[in-house]
Formats: sequence, structure tokens, C-alpha cells
Amino acid sequence: MIDCPLQPTERARSTLWEHRFASLGEDFFVALAPTPVPSPYWVGTNAALASTLGIEDFSDPASGWLESLAGNVVRTGMRPLASVYSGHQFGVWAGQLGDGRALLLGELAGQEVQLKGAGLTPFSRMGDGRAVLRSSIREYLCSEAMHALGIPTSRALCVIGSDLPVRRESMETAAVVTRVAPSFIRFGHFEHFSHNDQHLQLKQLADFVVDRFYPECRSDGRFGGNPYASLLQAVTERTARMVAQWQAVGFCHGVMNTDNMSILGLTIDYGPFQFLDGYDPDHICNHSDHHGRYAFARQPQVAYWNLYCLGQALLPLIDDQALAVQALETFKPVFAAESSRRMAAKLGFAAASEPVSALGNAALSLLAAEKVDFTIFWRRLSHWAVRRDMADPSVRDLFMDQRGIDAWLLQFSEHVTHNPLAHSADLMLGTNPCYVLRNHLGELAIRAARAKDFSQVAQLQSVLAQPFVERPEFAAYADFPPGWAAGIAISCSS
Ligand code: AMP
Ligand code: MG
Repeated sequence: MIDCPLQPTERARSTLWEHRFASLGEDFFVALAPTPVPSPYWVGTNAALASTLGIEDFSDPASGWLESLAGNVVRTGMRPLASVYSGHQFGVWAGQLGDGRALLLGELAGQEVQLKGAGLTPFSRMGDGRAVLRSSIREYLCSEAMHALGIPTSRALCVIGSDLPVRRESMETAAVVTRVAPSFIRFGHFEHFSHNDQHLQLKQLADFVVDRFYPECRSDGRFGGNPYASLLQAVTERTARMVAQWQAVGFCHGVMNTDNMSILGLTIDYGPFQFLDGYDPDHICNHSDHHGRYAFARQPQVAYWNLYCLGQALLPLIDDQALAVQALETFKPVFAAESSRRMAAKLGFAAASEPVSALGNAALSLLAAEKVDFTIFWRRLSHWAVRRDMADPSVRDLFMDQRGIDAWLLQFSEHVTHNPLAHSADLMLGTNPCYVLRNHLGELAIRAARAKDFSQVAQLQSVLAQPFVERPEFAAYADFPPGWAAGIAISCSS
């Protein structure tokens, strides 16, 4: 049992908590209570997600959830802990990291519930254990936007603000975001125990992950009955598919360190992420990434590199380098197939084919040449494809040099004409989102929230929850970014 230094209040009760991660034992975490924040207030709430966790009285003041998820009250059943992990940051071994400001409270309905920004832990190093309002709102909105786009991700239950001052480049205020995922175990958890030659703990962790999330690895015939090679293969496959989805919607993660890579192939740890405005494969969204290691087009390569680190960490268990390499080799074919399939869907084809991939690549080259707005291009093309009228200027108007795009539209149209049954403009409209969380949209909601107007967070959240449903009253959310958007600098500071 873990001792909780805070006493639960009378009303903080009822909901059934589990904590399977805690059963791993104390080599994996340090149990400690969150550090309270003064006068917490709701910034954003996700009642739909709360309901799936069995929380029905979420925003009822009498329920006490505000105090609990601010970290001010530990409810009965919660067993907060900070887990230990290590990792490679920007390609370099960084040694021990760990939950420096996150606390895992336990599980509700099979989902882990974690506070981020809940105060100092033994793993805080030079940090203050806090997260600022700005980055918490970004993480909250983006988790839910990615989920609505069908991209595997941690979810976000709420953001709670406090006027507690927090020093970053300038003085800001604190917030706590509650994140939800089946597990927050990272590649870095495995790297930690492997690097420290704690092979018993490494095996315990791998068995925990296999038994809970990848039971099929126990009976996978492909790796001579080696469940850990099978696990590496399964994680490789999920990661490849996830990154293919990122590329398909123009999502740039920004800090793909191995400690930010989920063992479940979920998008986690939203920091300096960005959805591309103008299409630029070399775009670097993280102002702390001076060499462009995590530039948009490099994400697949980096994912592969990170999987190699995971493979290295699992080697004491796999015990056969050739098997590990075989497992990792899945990445290239899976990523290629998933990317082609995603690109085909963007163009309205349910199945990939060589001519469709060629059309997709040609479109990307045209977009890159003029840094045409990625989301608007694909959305306009989806509407254009309904009638494919060459006199309709909506797509060509996005380009300065219109010869290339005119020729491309003709080619695309001809391909559809020759394959009418394979094509669906509806598929395009359900694949190419109208609304994504552009930096400037987040920024406007953050500015309002700083002035204690939280309505914009809620409104943006509701628009992003249905990214394929055009609503005329929200046309501004689908528009080009304003000139000042290019000047928004997002760094690792959060
Ligand atoms: P990140 O870049 O957010 O993935 O964080 C990398 C490491 O730094 C993790 O171990 C975090 O827990 C830790 N960290 C980041 N910000 C803070 C902070 N303000 N206080 C304590 N630890 C932090
Ligand atoms: Mg992180």
C-alpha cells in the first residue's frame, strides 16, 4: 500500500479506482501527493470523457472534483505516484528523467488518470514541478483535436488554472491538466531499467505491458516464441501507423525524444507541437530545436531511430540481435503502406495504388513550392472533387503559378473519370479536416483565458471535436492564419 500524506475529505469518495501500475512496486515510482495550488478554477472541462470514466458529477461544485484534479485533495482510492524513466533527448542519452511534474493518480474504467503540473517530485531536477496555463490549454485542446481526427493519443479531461505565479521567460500562472490514457509508459521506462542493468525490473515491465496491452505477443509464431521481439514488432507497427497519420494531417510533434514516445503508439506529451499552416516539409515548430532534428519531414525517420533505442533497451530480454532487427524492419513497409493508404484517402480513393501515390506526391511538391496552406488545400480539393469543374477556381486560386496546379487538377480529374467506382468525394470530406488546432487559434483562446474568459477554449474545443463538420458560424476557425501567426514562437518552455 502507498501512504497518501493528504487526508481524503468526506465528500471525496465513491468512484472506483484501480492502480495496476502501482502493483509493479517501488523500483518503478515514488509515491507522493500533489502540491496544492491556491484558489483553483476550471479553464476547460470534458464532460463526455468524464462520463466514460464513470464521473457523472464532474462540474458539480459539491462533488469536489475541482479540488481533487487541482491536486489539492487526494480522493479515497487515488494513489498518486511519480514514475521513473530515462531517455534520449535530441539524439543524446540524457540519463534519468522521470515524472518531474506529472503524478499518476490511478485508473478509472481501465484508463490511467494523470495530473500534469501537480508540483515537485523527486524527478523534477531543475524544474519547478509546474506547467503554465498556455501550454496546458494547448495540450488539452490538441489531445482532444487529435482524438477527433482519429489519431491515437492521450486524452484530456480538464484544465484547472490557479493564479499561482510561475516563472518562465516571463511571469505566467500555473495550471494543471488531467490527462487520460490506457498507459503512460514510455520507451524511456524501458531504457531506464536496461541502462541501469536492472534486468529483472525490465522483464517485469515488459511482462506488464505484454499481459495488459499486447497479449497476442505470447502466441506470435513469427519470432520463435519470443514475446519481447513480438512486443518490439507490435510497438514498431503502431508507431509507424501513428506517425503516418501525423504526416497525413500535417501534425508536427516538436519533441520526439524517446521519453515522449508511448509504448502504446499514442501521441503523448504535447509541447511545442504545430499543425502546419503553409506546407513546408522542413518546418521546425520547436524554437528550441536549433538543428531541425524534429522537422516535419524527419518525423518518420526519428520515430524509427527511437524504436531502435527501444530495441536496444529490450535486447537483454530478446537476447538475439537478429530477432530485434527483424522486429524493427517492420517499420518501413508498414509506414509506407499506411502513408500510401492515407494519401489515397485524402484523394478520395479507398485503396492505394501507384498512380494515386504519384498524384499525391505531385500535389505535395506543388504545395511545398509555394508553401500553400496544407489544410485549406486539401479541404478545398475535397469540395472541388464533387464536380471537378476546371472553371471552379477555388483550388487554383491558392497558387501564384497556376500552370502546375491546373495540369495536376486535370490529371487528378482524369484519374477519377477512369476509376469512377473507386473514387468518393465524401471520403475526401471525411478525411481532410476543415478545422485543425492552428497555433493562432490556440493563442487567441489562451489570451482570452488569461483574461479569465474561458468561453473561447470551450468553443474551440467544440469545433475541433467535429473537424470534418463545416459550420458556417465557425468559418473563421477554418480560415487562413493571420500575418502575426508566423511570429508565434513556441519553445520547450512550458
Ligand atoms: P518534456 O520536455 O516536457 O518531455 O520533459 C522532459 C523532462 O523534464 C521530464 O522528465 C519532465 O518531467 C521534466 N520537466 C519538464 N518541465 C518540468 C518542470 N517545469 N518541472 C519539473 N520537471 C519538468
Ligand atoms: Mg515529456
